[in-house]
Amino acid sequence: MSAPAFAPWQRRIYAQATAALDAGRLGHGLLFCGPAQLGKRAVAERLAQRLLCRERDAQGEPCGRCRGCLLLAAGTHPDFQTVSFILNKEGTRLRTEIVIEQIRNLSERLALTPQYGGAQVAILDPADAINHAACNALLKTLEEPVPGRYLWLVSAHPLRLPATIRSRCQRLEFRLPPADEALAWLQSQGHAANAAREALDAARGHPGLAHEWLQGEGLKLRRDVGADLAKLARGDASALEVAQRWVGDEHAELRLRHAADLVLAEASGLTDPVRTRSLAAWFDRANRTRELLRTTVRADLAVVELLMAWRPDGARAAGGSRA
Ligand SMILES: [Zn+2]
Repeated sequence: MSAPAFAPWQRRIYAQATAALDAGRLGHGLLFCGPAQLGKRAVAERLAQRLLCRERDAQGEPCGRCRGCLLLAAGTHPDFQTVSFILNKEGTRLRTEIVIEQIRNLSERLALTPQYGGAQVAILDPADAINHAACNALLKTLEEPVPGRYLWLVSAHPLRLPATIRSRCQRLEFRLPPADEALAWLQSQGHAANAAREALDAARGHPGLAHEWLQGEGLKLRRDVGADLAKLARGDASALEVAQRWVGDEHAELRLRHAADLVLAEASGLTDPVRTRSLAAWFDRANRTRELLRTTVRADLAVVELLMAWRPDGARAAGGSRA
């Protein structure tokens, strides 16, 4: 099997991990962390395949043909498990946290002798979604490492994990790549240079996000959000109407992200400290509102409040008479 089509930043982390593995320095607990959509999970899975393949090539790369590789590809390898969100008790929707029974099952399976005589690998993703009780169970498993057993945590928000868990894991940290590397990668994914540059700029250098926005309607959403904020600032739109539109589909979170980003970009170009402070406050507020959308708070009400807080400042900035 040829090497996977990893992006350069994925290749760097993979090389770092395989060097540690080959030198016998790879820890029992690993924390794959860094911004979402940089391919952390794919690197973790490739590393698992490397551990579970029975016929690795001269470079140690998995063959893709042996029983281990085939079972892994089919999702039925007995020595590999992934833990993520599962359905609630009623079977009606996905839970939003990882619960203790899942961690107990994971630990029980990890304690078994590998069926194929190799290793046992478990991937927990997103690791920061474990609830408090699950955390304690996980900590216990991390504290009692068994040779040949690997427990890997994937997280875009590692600071949400307790320090006790973080400190028991080796970190493999994904970082945003240099701009020229990100741009070259986007073009290798088939995006035109100009569009790629605009998206990368909008995503503040994040190639994974830029890629997603170029494929979907992320950039159009961003332009629309910018137009809405300008209208609100001029008093040409009502906060209620805009809020209802913003939360009317599944893109509410992305709109708030764009709104916060646009405001931050505006603030960074300003010299007026009062205006800068007020934009910074609104930026914080937009991010808090985005967090609220994940809770049971009524999304439209939270966004209305946010947008009402935008108007007076906007009017001042636009040279309005309501000082
Ligand atoms: Zn193989």
